[in-house]
Order: sequence, then C-alpha cells, then structure tokens
Amino acid sequence: PNSVPRQRGIAIPQGISQHRFFEALDELREELGTQHVELNDKELRSGWYMEHPNTHDMMNIVEQEELVASAVVYPACTEDVVKIVRWANKYRIPIFPISMGRNLGYGGAAPRVRGSVTVDLGRRMNKILNIDPDDHTCLIEPGVSFYALFEEVQKKGYTHIWVDVPDLGGGSIVGNTVDRGVGYTPYGDHWACHSGLEVVLPTGEVIRTGMGALPGNNTWQTFPYGFGPYSDGIFSQSNFGIVTKMGMTLMPNPGGYESFMYTFQKEENLAPLIEIIRPLRITNILENVAQLRHCLQTLAVRGLPRTTYFGGHGPIPQSIIHEELEKMPIGDCTWVYYGMSYGPTHIRKYKLDIIDKEFKKIAGARKIDPTTLPKDEYFWSRDRIAAGIPDLEELLWVNWMPNGSHVAFSPVSPIKGKDAERLYELAKKRHAEAGIDLMPAFCVGLREMHLIVEIVFDSKDAEMRKKAEICLRDMIDDAAALGYGEYRTHLVLMDQVAATYSWNDNALMKFNERLKDSLDPNGILAPGRCGIWPERYRGHGWEM
Ligand code: ADP
Repeated sequence: PNSVPRQRGIAIPQGISQHRFFEALDELREELGTQHVELNDKELRSGWYMEHPNTHDMMNIVEQEELVASAVVYPACTEDVVKIVRWANKYRIPIFPISMGRNLGYGGAAPRVRGSVTVDLGRRMNKILNIDPDDHTCLIEPGVSFYALFEEVQKKGYTHIWVDVPDLGGGSIVGNTVDRGVGYTPYGDHWACHSGLEVVLPTGEVIRTGMGALPGNNTWQTFPYGFGPYSDGIFSQSNFGIVTKMGMTLMPNPGGYESFMYTFQKEENLAPLIEIIRPLRITNILENVAQLRHCLQTLAVRGLPRTTYFGGHGPIPQSIIHEELEKMPIGDCTWVYYGMSYGPTHIRKYKLDIIDKEFKKIAGARKIDPTTLPKDEYFWSRDRIAAGIPDLEELLWVNWMPNGSHVAFSPVSPIKGKDAERLYELAKKRHAEAGIDLMPAFCVGLREMHLIVEIVFDSKDAEMRKKAEICLRDMIDDAAALGYGEYRTHLVLMDQVAATYSWNDNALMKFNERLKDSLDPNGILAPGRCGIWPERYRGHGWEM
C-alpha cells in the first residue's frame, strides 16, 4: 500500500485548541474504552478497495490532506452512538458518520470538514439482526456488507431469497442505501427497497421510523410508511441523523435467469437505441437497470494500463480502441449493452425474443453468444451482479492509470435519444478540452436514466487531478444549463451540485437549512454534506 507522510500535522477540528481536543478525546476514551478511540496522527495510507483507509479519501481529487479526520471512534451499539453525539455537542466537535467508508468515487471515508471525528459504525456494529425467510426481509446494522448478507443467506440455505448487489459488493448496505446507490436486479433501487430506520438524531434522541415507532409491531420491515409524515427521506443524502439500523426487503429467487449482451457499431446508434430501450424498460421487458456502455470501458476493464495501448498524451485515439476490440471476443463496436432476463425458460424466451427483434432494428446490432466467451470475460462479472452475487471485477478499470482513482459525473435525464445525445456531446467536449479519456455508461432505471461518466485519474498527479476537477465542474454547469442535475456526487462537488437545485430562489436549500438548524443546533453532524451547512458554518468560506 502507498503511504504519504503528513505535511500538515494532525487535523485538529476548527474552533477548539489542540490541548482541549485531546482532553475531550480522553473523556470519550473513558466512555467507550481506550481502544475504541484512535487519533489519526499516522501517515495516510491508500491500500486497495478491501483494505481502504477510514480516515481520508484514498482516491483524492483535491490535495490528500485537505479532507482528513482528526480521530476515528468505534461505537458498538446505538447507546455508544448516543454518547458520541452528546460528547460532540458538549465540545462542538464536528463528527462524520460512515458505515464502511467504501464510497469510492464519491469521497470514500473522508469527512467534508477537515479535522472531523469519523464515527466508524461498521467496524463493531456489523450484525445481521434478522432475516425473515417468509416475508423476504432483513434488519441489519451499518457494518453489514453486501458480501456478508449474501453469505449469511447462503449459509442459512435460503435459496429462495436473493440479495441485490451494486457494482462492488464490499461496501455497506446501509451506506449505499442512504447515499441512494443502485444495484442491478429488479430490486436495484436500494432506497425504494428499504423499510424502516433507526436513527440517532444530532441531539442524541433515538427514533424509529415507519411501523418501528409502534411498540410491539411486527411490520417494521414490511410496511415502510407507518402513520404521519414519511420521515425516512430526510435521512438519505443528508446530515440530519445517524442511521444505526435499517430494514431491507429482499427479492424472491425468480426461478431462472439469463444474461445477454448486444454490441452496436456506430456512435450515432446511441439516440435510436435509447428510443428502443425506453418502452421496453417501462413495460418491464427489460427487467433490470439496463447498462449501455461505451466500448472503451470494455477495453479498460480488462485491467491493463492505458500505456499498453497508447503512450501519447490526450485522449486515446478511437482507432486504437477499435483495433484492440477487434482482437477481443466481443469484436469491434462502439456501444455494449448488458442485460438480464429473469424467470423460467419459457418466460425468458418470450421477453428475449421481443428484445432481439427490437434491438436488431439498429443496423449492425449483434447478439453475442455467451457460450463463446471465456470465463474471465467481463460479461460474466455483469452476469453475477445481475444475479445478486457480489463481485469486485468492476474495480479493474481503475488500473487504466497509475495510482488509479475514479470520480463520477452522474446526471439524470429522461430515457430519450435527444437527452442521451446532449449529455454525451457535452461530456465529449469537456473531456477533449481536458485531455481525458471518456468512459460513459447509461444506466436506465424505470423512467429515467443516469449517465455515469467515470473519470479515471492518477491521484498522485496534481496536474491531472486539477484537470479532472475542472472537467467535472464544467460538466456540472453545462448539464445544469440544459436542465440536468446529478443524482449523487463526490464530497468536493456537493456545494456546486446542491446550488444547481435552485428553483424559486434556492427554496429547497433554505428548507434543508431550516431543518438542519432545528435538528442540529450546534452544527456537529457532518457539516457541509450534500451542500447543507449548519448556521455556525454558513457564509464563513467553507463552500468549495
Ligand atoms: P459504503 O461502505 O457503502 O461505501 P459509506 O459508509 O462510505 O458506504 O457511506 C456513504 C456515505 O453515506 C458516508 O460518507 C456518509 O456520509 C453516509 N452514511 C453512511 N452510513 C451512514 C449512517 N449509518 N448514517 C448516516 N449517514 C451515513
């Protein structure tokens, strides 16, 4: 693992002296046990995905020491979280909760405010509290990863239950869900599939949402709404509470599945293809989050560095990409579609025949026969993920660059050809200006699509980092000018993205700020996350 010696010393939180901060930590050690409070005074290590640091973003887009924790604390239970929150209020120390901190591409484990104390929930609060095999639900703590839940379901022999997994299975289910991440089975919208939260509020009260508020209930995980205002929403992509338990609905085994892949030859196939995808997706003939990827990603995910193919500066020439694809099992193309059909054979056949007929309307469309693909072909990784089997192969494309890091631009649009084209063109233009390789993927939800553009960069190369940041910021502004907004973003870009949601003189942000000030009067919980700053910080130059 790579280590960086510290230049700036321990990141003491603003507004408190080092001496007083150390005294405060001693007090917390007495409450939680010495071994559960760690000062972050060591060099910053990177490691790889499964050994990621919990003190900073190992895929930093700004200077490495800008967003680092002063200390990390490890609660064992909800009561410990309450103690930590009360302690933070007493000393007005900013705290930043993470579940497992594998939110790579969006800030990893880093806090938004330098010197925050990271509350690492995942290390000790990692229990699967319940799996109900009849209701197909579970109740979990923040430290339960997609792998852990999958393995437990297997161990219990619940072959009738599936777990939906995102591209990388090592992350926390709670972390991914509260950040509104997605997976690739019909249960891919994790937030929509959760049912019930337990939350520690910034002032230390503990609430349960939905049916959880009713003592003795047995429907917390089966009916998400309960009675009265539906409060769960304010605890996703926010800084209004710390989620300590979450219920999740689980998918029934569909009784069979079959992945398929199509390739399309020309760049200009994009718009007509999106027009074909929309009705198929809305009517559920295409049953999972459909992915249409640019072929460069297919090349990059082989895991070889870019220099294998091209030693020059600026974007890799398209001609080289096409020559390389020609040598690969999938052959030359510009767009690759990955999908899956669920159910028994005769049901799949009905849907797959329709898809084939529609996709083949694009001249040059090819269905790739999976039996011709070697075991290590990326297709099989997509196959596992869409079947709810956690996987890590998606990580391989970060090898495209030395010290390979990634950060995403993820605007939402209608599933329409002209929207896809506009977003693709603006990304192309800004990537060309910045001299960065463009790797777009369109992920089609039920009535909208996210364009996910992952910029792969060398995090040790300050110049390249700057170029990546400028490219991202330009794309966010360009997209907003056309009416597109991001569904999720990196810590460093949260202020900018939040500011694009400005309708009616920023009325939504004013509402969020009012909630923040009332729920968190001392402004201790994750200040600045998702662009929401507590009163104490507002207008003091914290925005980036
Ligand atoms: P993962 O392990 O899935 O990558 P993280 O733990 O990095 O997820 O969570 C992503 C982000 O969501 C964190 O940076 C944090 O801001 C927020 N978050 C994660 N877990 C919680 C939680 N239990 N309560 C409140 N916010 C959380």
